[in-house]
Amino acid sequence: MILAPEDCGCPIVEEGPSLVNSPVCSGNFLFMVLLQSYLWGRCSISTPCKRIESVEETEQEYDFIVVGAGSAGSIVAGRLSENTTYKVVLLEAGGPEPLGVRVPSFYRTFWDNPAVDWQIRTVPADYCLDQEGLGCKWPLGKGLGGTSQLNGMMYHRGHHADYTCDWVEAGAKGWSWDEIKPFMDLTEGNKQIGSLVDGKYHSDIGPLPIQTFRYQPLALYDLMDAINQTGLPLIKDMNNPNTPEGFVIAQAFNDNGQRYTTARAYLPPQSERPNLNIKLHAHVTKVLFRRKKAIGVEYVDENGNTKVVKARKEVILSAGALTSPKILMHSGVGPKETLEPLGIKVIEDLPVGKNLKNHCGATLYFILKKVKNTQVLDWSALTEYLLQNDGPMSSTGLTQLTGLLYSSYAKKELKQPDLQFFFNGFYAECSKTGAIGEPAIECPNSGYNVSANAVYLLPRSVGYMTINSTDPFEQAIYDPNFFSDPVDMEVIKEGLEYLRQIFNSELLQEQYEIELDPTYTEKCDKVAPAWSDDWKECMIRVHTDPQNHQLGTCAIGKVVDPELRVYNLKALRVCDAGSMPSQPTGNPQGAIMAVAERCAHFIKEAWQ
Ligand SMILES: Cc1cc2nc3c(=O)[nH]c(=O)nc-3n(C[C@H](O)[C@H](O)[C@H](O)COP(=O)(O)OP(=O)(O)OC[C@H]3O[C@@H](n4cnc5c(N)ncnc54)[C@H](O)[C@@H]3O)c2cc1C
Repeated sequence: MILAPEDCGCPIVEEGPSLVNSPVCSGNFLFMVLLQSYLWGRCSISTPCKRIESVEETEQEYDFIVVGAGSAGSIVAGRLSENTTYKVVLLEAGGPEPLGVRVPSFYRTFWDNPAVDWQIRTVPADYCLDQEGLGCKWPLGKGLGGTSQLNGMMYHRGHHADYTCDWVEAGAKGWSWDEIKPFMDLTEGNKQIGSLVDGKYHSDIGPLPIQTFRYQPLALYDLMDAINQTGLPLIKDMNNPNTPEGFVIAQAFNDNGQRYTTARAYLPPQSERPNLNIKLHAHVTKVLFRRKKAIGVEYVDENGNTKVVKARKEVILSAGALTSPKILMHSGVGPKETLEPLGIKVIEDLPVGKNLKNHCGATLYFILKKVKNTQVLDWSALTEYLLQNDGPMSSTGLTQLTGLLYSSYAKKELKQPDLQFFFNGFYAECSKTGAIGEPAIECPNSGYNVSANAVYLLPRSVGYMTINSTDPFEQAIYDPNFFSDPVDMEVIKEGLEYLRQIFNSELLQEQYEIELDPTYTEKCDKVAPAWSDDWKECMIRVHTDPQNHQLGTCAIGKVVDPELRVYNLKALRVCDAGSMPSQPTGNPQGAIMAVAERCAHFIKEAWQ
């Protein structure tokens, strides 16, 4: 069954970057060639009948133009085109979704691959010092599904106070928890209501399948026992407001052992929805205006040709928090003091790009000297995946575990935890030949490496993004200004102390002989004794963990109104992470999807 391709009813078109020679297993060419072709040959994985085909040429005019097929844009275009009287075009700079992103254990594989990652770097500063002066790396998805192709798939809605207090106070009138919740419900296709989570806090009506991964490595359960041993709570559902604090195996965007991007969940093939045109490799350079009204966009196609497409009704920017503001600025919408010196004609003077926020934390690296269970990517893992959609390939190893806790700065009465923890390790990684039972990697410190991150969820430091060139293909400037507010540093130090507690637990000490990896502490060990305040600050600045939860650059109340329309302009909205005024305390895609659903709802209401 797994040795020959099945008859899928539609031809298999192998497209997108391959897993061969990828970081998953660059050393074992033959095994990876076979793995890749077996994956293509499984209809339930490659789903050729659901393939999204790019139109060759866009038409001259559409009712709606949506820019960016990422987490938000795929939802906006998918929902708008449900109305068959609307003609919709979705313009995406990148290409099709690579097959490899569907395999959860390969979730880091395409980071840094220029076909799928925009390879963004922040300006160099006194953090991310392990990057040797290059600034922090911010993986950012390109292509169908956008960053939902690269992310860790964890599903979180944030906490009530994030919306009812923080968003509403920031000017997002009408965005309290009770008002956003129905749109969260529209996205969520939860498969574990009743068996794991409570229907009061989840929904099963949405297109995006959500559930815990099928497979957990044994080490994950040991880690949970260790957490329990330290007296920290274990919970079943981090979206249940009655258990705001605790560690949990997260529910994730997956089904049948495969990742679901929003594109996969919301965008049908053109044969099923002819009024939706999707144009890949269409890099939008600017929005076109007639006086104060958006009338279309200009884009550059795969052949380098500049094209214009017109909008009868609206243009919706969903190019993400780091790019929608860039497109606006190149179009003349942004701070006058930035645009005028570049010679860009100002259409509207607005604080675009000024409110760049991101979660930030630090990473600690450990060695497990006595490893009990090391999963590898071998024939048994592949066979289990192909036949049962299960096993180490079907999950993200230790990464599926997360935790939310209060720091001493948190407002507990608001049930808004401000620290989140992530873990890395025990992925399905390469063995030398694919033979069963080979060790995963050769480690010079004779042990197995894992890492853990402590992240502050309500950072007070606010950064900005801007442009310093009129060339839309040049990278913009991103300055997150991390730690400009000293409280951020203090909270992350508290987070590191929680990690210390967990990793000092008797269980991890005795069963794994876990210790800090000296390769990663060397620099700070020279600065101050381990675990002193100065040592922790040094570790946070060297091994900074900037999360990839950037938002706020076109925020409601600053750049767009509560219906996501750009202030003082007509027929232009921003619907993505950029329009969110402040951080949800958790993983943000749940909130971003709700923003997209609501955006489509506003538009449909406006034009009915
Ligand atoms: C490594 C990583 C792990 C993460 N883990 C999680 C997690 O576990 N859970 C969670 O909730 N969140 C997670 N996130 C965050 C989450 O994925 C993002 O916040 C979210 O995907 C952003 O959605 P968006 O729609 O705003 O932007 P994107 O999804 O980035 O979409 C923007 C789209 O616009 C396209 N585009 C950009 N410029 C142009 C242009 N000029 N013309 C045409 N198209 C353009 C891009 O190619 C892209 O497809 C993670 C992020 C990363 C990077």
